[in-house]
Amino acid sequence: MPVVLDGKAVRDAILESLRPRVARLVEEQRAPGLAVVLVGHNPASEIYVRSKVKACEELGIASEKHLPTGDVSTEDMLFLVNRLNQRRDIDGILVQLPLPDQVDEQEVLLAIDPSKDVDGFHPISSGNLMANRAGFRPCTPAGVMKMLEHYGVPLAGKHAVVVGRSDIVGKPMAMLLLHANCTVTICHSKTQNLAAECRRADIVVAAIGRPAFITRDFVKPDAVVIDVGINRVKERDRVVQMFGDNPARMAAFEKNGSVVVGDVHPEVFEHCAAYTPVPGGVGPLTIAMLMSNTVASAEWRLGITP
Ligand code: NDP
Repeated sequence: MPVVLDGKAVRDAILESLRPRVARLVEEQRAPGLAVVLVGHNPASEIYVRSKVKACEELGIASEKHLPTGDVSTEDMLFLVNRLNQRRDIDGILVQLPLPDQVDEQEVLLAIDPSKDVDGFHPISSGNLMANRAGFRPCTPAGVMKMLEHYGVPLAGKHAVVVGRSDIVGKPMAMLLLHANCTVTICHSKTQNLAAECRRADIVVAAIGRPAFITRDFVKPDAVVIDVGINRVKERDRVVQMFGDNPARMAAFEKNGSVVVGDVHPEVFEHCAAYTPVPGGVGPLTIAMLMSNTVASAEWRLGITP
């Protein structure tokens, strides 16, 4: 039977390890502070931000929301970010993406003080990651590494194939696996013979954004499969094709009119060594790693060694 890599259990372990560190910060100095900037009304972003603020509250991190209107200009965003950069009580600044078209996203991310870049998207953070120097790591790939560590998945010398090369998941994921001494292949939409590339992998990481794209012929039997994808499927035929034999998932579809699926087809799970489910796999770790980065930032700026 394949091992189910349970993201909620790993998330709980991460959050538990942060509690005494937050308590010490509060006792000796002050609570860590996180500022979240959410522009306009994007329902998905609103849900993410709510979850982040709730996680802060549960952990004792002081969080505050900034809610510029959807017609905000790049200049206004830069003004806000600069104000947050200067605040001593703010350890982390998170600008929820995507930003509206009229805002220069790169310029806004570049304006964030790298020492408060808890999302790990600033080029300084990317450079630190590339050079394997200390710094903020993007939360989702950092969460995957915690997952692999938690379950004792051997990495050194293993072949990891990362499908996806985005700046926030695929590229940093590949770099983290490389620093853990994996031999890494990065695949993308122009990769030829993708299934054959993936079949060579001891560890497959799917970060594509295409529901159930990775099928059984992509994965060798003893591989560990990490599914980063979060996709909502509304077409009944597709849901039946994926989950026809899973009463719980079909019932969820009947109730909600859609299901959330990863980039990996459920048929893969019976034929691999271990896998992350969607939901409940990688997803819960992203916010946990954001909390971890925020606590680390507060410790660093307040001179406390964990
Ligand atoms: P992007 O759209 O930025 O990147 C997708 C990547 O997949 C690109 O590199 C693209 O290649 C590649 N790709 C697309 N189609 C194919 C194909 N047919 N064959 C091979 N490669 C392909 O997505 P993100 O990296 O931001 O996110 C990926 C997934 O992870 C999404 O489902 C997203 O929702 C999810 N996600 C989950 C998070 C979590 O907390 N669990 C956090 C962040 C994202 P190319 O570069 O050539 O276009």
